[in-house]
Amino acid sequence: MTQDNEFSYNPKIEVVKFVKNCHITQGLKAVKPFANNYVSNRVLKLNTGFLLSAGPGHSHDSIFDVPAVRVADDVYLKFIKGPIRLSRTKEGILVQGELEIGLEDDCYRCLDPVSRNLTIKIEELYAYLTPENVEFGVLDDGILDLAPLVRAEALIILSRGILCRDDCKGLCPDCGANLNYDTCDCAAEYVDPRLAQLKQLLDGK
Ligand SMILES: [Zn+2]
Ligand SMILES: [Zn+2]
Repeated sequence: MTQDNEFSYNPKIEVVKFVKNCHITQGLKAVKPFANNYVSNRVLKLNTGFLLSAGPGHSHDSIFDVPAVRVADDVYLKFIKGPIRLSRTKEGILVQGELEIGLEDDCYRCLDPVSRNLTIKIEELYAYLTPENVEFGVLDDGILDLAPLVRAEALIILSRGILCRDDCKGLCPDCGANLNYDTCDCAAEYVDPRLAQLKQLLDGK
């Protein structure tokens, strides 16, 4: 019994190469088939007005738990959850958290779809907004937007690439076979050109 059918894959090497070259931008797949199932990134806006008025030294702990969310046009997460601490400092609000995120991507070796849960540690001072600080800032009304921070962390992970499994064998560079559940003869026939002369000697030619 094998599960090969579940993974059946029709190698198209040109497509594979194209996708590989685009790897760094693969977080930019703006069109997701089930994008409607993702909630708006408004859920990543936190109201910290109560902390701002409480003054420096106060902090607030909570458990973050949001379902499938469109963090940004180029980052969709299946969930975000974990503890988060907001601390009021003189400059603004310090955000610290250890969040588990559900990522979906293609394995960067074999291109199969992968679903993985990873933990990101976030720590960022959201200062009062100034013209220089438009990304990580607290608005006058105390609203703080976690989306740019979570997006940045997710893009770092996606740019490194995630694997379907740690020992993924990837695709054959010659025929495109997925070596996790296919075999091919390419490697057997292949002789490094630099070693070809040696092979000739060994073969007694
Ligand atoms: Zn893989
Ligand atoms: Zn091959």
